[in-house]
Amino acid sequence: MLKNNISEVEQMFAVRLMQHLVVPTFVLDPDGCVMIWNKACERLTNVKAEEVIGTRDHWKAFYEKPRACLADLVVSGRMDEIDRLYAAHSVREDVFIGVRAENWAVMPRASKRCYLAINCGPIYDEAGEMIAVVETLRDMTEQKQAEEALKSLAHKDGLTGLPNRRSFDISLEADLLHAQRKKEYLTLLLCDVDHFKQYNDTYGHQAGDDCLKRVAQAVGQQALRPTDLAARYGGEEFVVILPSSSPEGAERVATRLCQAIYDLNDEHKTSLSADRVTISVGVACIIPDEMIRPTDMIEMADEALYAAKQNGRNQVCFYESPKLEMAVKTSL
Ligand code: GH3
Ligand code: MG
Ligand code: MG
Repeated sequence: MLKNNISEVEQMFAVRLMQHLVVPTFVLDPDGCVMIWNKACERLTNVKAEEVIGTRDHWKAFYEKPRACLADLVVSGRMDEIDRLYAAHSVREDVFIGVRAENWAVMPRASKRCYLAINCGPIYDEAGEMIAVVETLRDMTEQKQAEEALKSLAHKDGLTGLPNRRSFDISLEADLLHAQRKKEYLTLLLCDVDHFKQYNDTYGHQAGDDCLKRVAQAVGQQALRPTDLAARYGGEEFVVILPSSSPEGAERVATRLCQAIYDLNDEHKTSLSADRVTISVGVACIIPDEMIRPTDMIEMADEALYAAKQNGRNQVCFYESPKLEMAVKTSL
C-alpha cells in the first residue's frame, strides 16, 4: 500500500473514499499494477476489483487486444504514444499535473462501446517520487453520438437525404485539385428539373417535395463509384461529380441519369416538354489546368444546362470551349 508516513487508518480512509467515489476511478502503482479499482469503475466496465487488483490486466476491461491505457503511459513515461492510441488528448507537457484524453473503448465485459473522457494524474510523495497514478473515466457516449449525428446532419440535405451544397463545395474543391495534379478529366453534371414551378402549381408544394425526393434518389443511384458524389445543389437542382471519367463515360452517366428520371414515369401534365417529370443536364468534362477554379466548372456546367433548356429540355448538353458551337449530344 501507499508507502509514506501517513497512518494505516488514514490510508484506509483514503482508499475507502476512492472506492465509493461516484466517478469511475482506478489507481496503478509505479510498476503499473492495479492498486485500486473503485465501485463506479466496476459498474462502468462490469469487471470486479478482485479480478484486476495486483495485475496489469486492467486493459481487458476496455479493449479486446492488449494495449496501453492512459495510466500506463503516465506510469512508464511513454507519452509519445498518446497520438497513436487516443482520438483526442491534451498536450503531452501536462503530464506532471495530469493528462486528458478521449477514446472509443469496446468494453468487452460490459458488451457496449463507450466513448470515454479520461483524466490521468500521477501522485508524488514528499521526496518527489511517483507513488501512484490515478485514472478517472467519464462516459461521454451519448454526447459523442449526438455530436456525430449533428455533424452528419450538417452535411446532408434535410429534404432528400443527399449530401448538401456544403458537402458538394468541399468535394468539388478536393476533386479539382486532384484532377489538376494528376492531369485527369473531371466531370460535373448539373441537373435541373424541367418546368418544376408548373409542377408545384399543378400538384401542390407537398407533392413537389415528394417528387424531389424521388428525383434525388434516382440521381443518387447514378453515383456508382465510391469517388462519385451526387448532391442537392439547391431548389430543384442536383449535381454529380465524376472524378477521372472520360467524356464518353460522362456522356453515358448523364444520358442514363436523364433516362432514369424519365423512367420514374412521374406524371407532369402541365410540362411543356413531356407528359412526365424530366430533367435537363449540363455537363462540364475537362482536364482542368491550374487556372480553373471550382466556380469556373460550375459556370461551364450551367452554360451547358442553359443550352439543354434552350434546345427543348429533357436532354443532355455538353459544355464546349467558347470557340466551338454548343452541341446537343443526346435527345431522348
Ligand atoms: P425550368 O424548366 O426552366 O427549369 O423551369 P422551372 O419551373 O423548373 O424553373 P424555375 O426556376 O422557374 O422554378 C423552379 C421551381 O422549383 C420554383 C420553386 O418553387 C421550386 N422549388 C425549389 N425548391 C423546391 C423545394 O424544395 N420544394 C418544392 N416543392 N419546390 C421547390
Ligand atoms: Mg432551377
Ligand atoms: Mg427547373
